[in-house]
Amino acid sequence: MIRAKKSLGQNFLIDQNIIKKIIETIDIKDKNILEIGPGTGNLTLEILKKNPKKVILIEKDNILANQLIKKFSKNVEILNKDVLKVNENTLCDQSLIVFGNLPYNISTEILSKWILNLNQNKIWFSCLILMFQKEVADRIISKFNTKNYGRISILSNWRLDVKKIFDVKAACFYPKPKIDSTVLFFKPKKNFFKLRNPKNLEKITRIFFMHRRKMIKKPYNQLFNNDESIAYQMGINLNLRPQNLDFNTYYKLTEKYECLRS
Ligand code: SAH
Repeated sequence: MIRAKKSLGQNFLIDQNIIKKIIETIDIKDKNILEIGPGTGNLTLEILKKNPKKVILIEKDNILANQLIKKFSKNVEILNKDVLKVNENTLCDQSLIVFGNLPYNISTEILSKWILNLNQNKIWFSCLILMFQKEVADRIISKFNTKNYGRISILSNWRLDVKKIFDVKAACFYPKPKIDSTVLFFKPKKNFFKLRNPKNLEKITRIFFMHRRKMIKKPYNQLFNNDESIAYQMGINLNLRPQNLDFNTYYKLTEKYECLRS
C-alpha cells in the first residue's frame, strides 16, 4: 500500500460503499467532472464507470499524479498542480460537477477561495460534493446563535446553498484519521446579496470573530470609526456577541462598510 503524506492531508477513502454513495449523490452521465485530490484514484474509478463526458483531475503530489497518468490518461485530463494556484474559472467552458475528498489541512482555504473568486453571473460549477472533517462541515452549515457559527458559515451562505449528505466514519479511510468526516452538497444561489468586493465580507467577519466571546462594540467601532449611527439604524445591539448576528446582518454591514469607503 502507498505511503501517505501527512503534509498533503492524504487520507485515502477505502470503503467501497461510501465511494459509491458519494458518486450516486447526483447523475453524472455525460456531465463534465472535476475531482480535487484524486490520490490513488479510488473515486475517479467510480466516476468513470458512470460515463461522464469529461473528467479533469487536480493532484498536487507528483508521484500520485504520475500514477494517475499511467492509470487513466486515455479519457482523463490530469493536472499535476496545487488546487490553490489553479484559476478555476478557466478550467472548462461548460459548468463542472466537482467531487473532492479534500486535503483537510486546506479544505476551508479551498472553499473560501472559490467563493471569493466566483463571478457574478457565469459560475464555473453546477454543484460541489465535498468531504470535510466533521467539525469543519458543522461550522460550514451552522446558523446564527449557535456555537459553530462563524466566518465560513457566513461566507458559504452568501453565495451557496449547502446541505449535509452524510457522515463518514474515520475507519473508512487509510490511514485512519482521528475524527469522522462529512460529505456536503453545495449549489450556487440564484439570488444573493450584491457586494462590491467580497474581500470586505471576509474582512468584516474576520474582525468581528476575532474574539468570539466578547461584545461586538469594539470590532464594530474599529471598522466604522466609532460611528454608532449605522448600528443604531440597523437595530444592532452592540452588546451582543458575533454569533448573535444573522447572515443578512453581516451582508448589510459589509454593504454599509463599502458605502463608507467609496
Ligand atoms: N480522493 C482520494 C484522496 C484524498 S486525500 C481518496 O479519497 O482516496 C487528499 C488528496 O489531495 C491527496 O491525494 C493529496 O495528495 C491531494 N492534495 C493535497 N493538497 C493538494 C493541493 N494543494 N492541490 C491538489 N491536491 C492536493
